[in-house]
Amino acid sequence: MRANHKGKPTLLAVDDALAAIIARLPHTSTNILPLGDALGYTLAEDLVARLTLPPQAVSAMDGYAVRGKDVSNLPCQLTRVAESAAGHPWFGAINAGQAVRVFTGAAIPDGADTIVIQEDVDPVSEENGVDITVRSAEPAGRYIRPAGLDVMKGQVILCAGTQLSARAIGLASAAGLTEALVSLRPRIGVLSTGDELVQPGSIPGLGQIISSNASFLKGFVTAIGAEVVDLGIACDTPGAMLSSVRNAKNLDLVVTTGGASIGVHDHIVSDLDDNEGSELNFWRIAMRPGKPLISGTVDGIPLLGLPGNPVSTAVCALVFLRPAIAHMVRDNRIGLGSIDPIFKVPLGVDLDANDNRQDYIRANLQESANGQIVLPAPRQDSSMLSVLATADALIVRPPYDQAKYAGDMVNVLQIPTLL
Ligand code: AMP
Ligand code: MG
Repeated sequence: MRANHKGKPTLLAVDDALAAIIARLPHTSTNILPLGDALGYTLAEDLVARLTLPPQAVSAMDGYAVRGKDVSNLPCQLTRVAESAAGHPWFGAINAGQAVRVFTGAAIPDGADTIVIQEDVDPVSEENGVDITVRSAEPAGRYIRPAGLDVMKGQVILCAGTQLSARAIGLASAAGLTEALVSLRPRIGVLSTGDELVQPGSIPGLGQIISSNASFLKGFVTAIGAEVVDLGIACDTPGAMLSSVRNAKNLDLVVTTGGASIGVHDHIVSDLDDNEGSELNFWRIAMRPGKPLISGTVDGIPLLGLPGNPVSTAVCALVFLRPAIAHMVRDNRIGLGSIDPIFKVPLGVDLDANDNRQDYIRANLQESANGQIVLPAPRQDSSMLSVLATADALIVRPPYDQAKYAGDMVNVLQIPTLL
């Protein structure tokens, strides 16, 4: 799909553009990592439990392990014969008329099939050999966690393609694992372009602004589990982007911001299209913000050219860069259309009919008397970082969506807190 930038403009649909970007991206290689270092990495193979959880039947409550048939006529008296606590199992068995004092996580003694909670028992004292009076009891089997309730040894506990959350690491660890085969983090080169840009921390002179897109992308890429390589700022000069990319080593993907249109100061498209070794795959997407998004390659390295306006950069990062990185690490959410779930939420206001571009409207979710609603920010200018940074959702409107009224359902992409 080679696209000459001098040709007639055609706008590619968002889904087609995403599919074409992903189709060109390789997977990263894999390696075994200790679980303690694996947070945010994606599993490259299924994880199989080495242990059964719980390893034997245990009590879910503090109380007394008894035989269900001994507590069918209440109140009744039983003799406390032993105690079993977490970490201190009792290896005996109970007979008719006997009970064992148990605590949460304690192994259930042989012969017992029911737990009577301590609130339903009057003990003479906390000693073995004393009588206890059971006032009330739950049906047999209650409050017992059978062996393997949670996990069986040999069972797949986490599938290949799962991004390792803190919860997943907790599960793997409980199941006896200490390491996992994961896809390595892709190395993402981030290059800002623009003569007006200065590095964060400097004081902008007349006509200058701080390159905040690079700050945003560093956070974004790191938060989703990839590695950032800062390629700095390239001038608005033909070939400047190419030299910056060619000076970098071992990149899996280059992300540029700015210079994505075909004004006289924009050179990403022409650098890709007019030079040996680079290629322009396509550009111009039917979306708002983000129309001048570019896909290309430099010496075989895939390049994603994001528009310079900070809101366009952020929306395109969510819509294209997040799934692109997910694909590279074999994330199994890829192919679902959106890595972050899209919900139907009622609108809080009316919206005019949409034009030919898929719209990503900065918005906030709010509680109303009738439940949750979504409210578009009053100004949608694609330069407004203050609106972007405080939005928690994007209303996604397909091309030519008809006018919507307060209360109508719209598609909402919740912006993950760290992105
Ligand atoms: P461009 O896509 O180069 O035409 O840039 C569009 C707008 O985004 C201009 O107002 C630029 O100054 C601004 N812009 C471009 N790059 C950055 C950046 N790295 N950080 C903040 N704003 C930028
Ligand atoms: Mg520019």
